[in-house]
Amino acid sequence: MNPIYHNLEFGITCIDTQHMRKDFVAAYLIKDNDRAAFVDTGCHLSVPTLLATLDANNIPRENVDCVLLTHIHLDHAGGAGELIKYLPNATVYVHERGAQHLINPSKLRKGVIDVYGELFFKQFLGDLIPIPEDRIVIAKDGDEITLGNRTLEFIDSPGHARHHVCIWDQASQGFFSGDTLGVSYREFDTDQGELIFPPTTPVQFDPIIWKNTIERLMSFKPKYAYLTHFNRIEFTQHSANMLIQHIDGFVKISEKLKHSESRHKAIKEHLLDYLLAISTDHGVNLDETQQVKLFKGDLEICAQGLGVWLDRNSS
Ligand SMILES: [Zn+2]
Repeated sequence: MNPIYHNLEFGITCIDTQHMRKDFVAAYLIKDNDRAAFVDTGCHLSVPTLLATLDANNIPRENVDCVLLTHIHLDHAGGAGELIKYLPNATVYVHERGAQHLINPSKLRKGVIDVYGELFFKQFLGDLIPIPEDRIVIAKDGDEITLGNRTLEFIDSPGHARHHVCIWDQASQGFFSGDTLGVSYREFDTDQGELIFPPTTPVQFDPIIWKNTIERLMSFKPKYAYLTHFNRIEFTQHSANMLIQHIDGFVKISEKLKHSESRHKAIKEHLLDYLLAISTDHGVNLDETQQVKLFKGDLEICAQGLGVWLDRNSS
């Protein structure tokens, strides 16, 4: 197993979990003195990559104190149950709304299969192993933990999902942001910087709450966001404005199409047009087929999430 990872500054390593494609789903390893923590795990199938990254960086498995989960969507947390089998001293930190679904993952598994289908679950996510209750600690807003010489703080971050926390790293002045500070693929970087858009994943997307969360996170004056999708970016007020603008853009599309006959299909098509247009404005130079390929997974999920949000709002 040859893991793919990028050692960043401040003892932080971005691991490519190689879920679906390269440069799509990251997990992070933080090392401080001789202690280590993972932030997010990728899915069940990503665990060998995470362990190989520890080995390649000469970090004994006993030195991993914790696994910090931003939220329980499976591309972030699906590997946690399997991973901690190999980490005898690791405690899992998770939002209180997520904990019970990791202890007993049957509902989470069903929810994921409803969205992605059984075949996708088996082929691309692998499995979902329960986490023993005594290895879980609830991460509440404002809670701090110490890792080596650094302090990490959990910030309740609803909007993308209600079970989401971001983790503030004082040492690097950055947020491990899960999905809350958006998705930004390195293929779309131009001299204008990063292209950032919101993953409006089912079933808890809430635009107003999300925008409030972004505002709160910006009050920390972050320098960096460690995105799950994908890698570290400098996160400025401009980045936040772009993300908020596109949350509004996605919402506008879904509201315009809420009565259309094949609503899901229509939302998906309009989202693609929207993303292609913002990428052109951003000076992206990839041909359209490549862009469609890179956007494909997000389009399906974002359209589903917007549909669920429309239904929730109209009932
Ligand atoms: Zn998510």
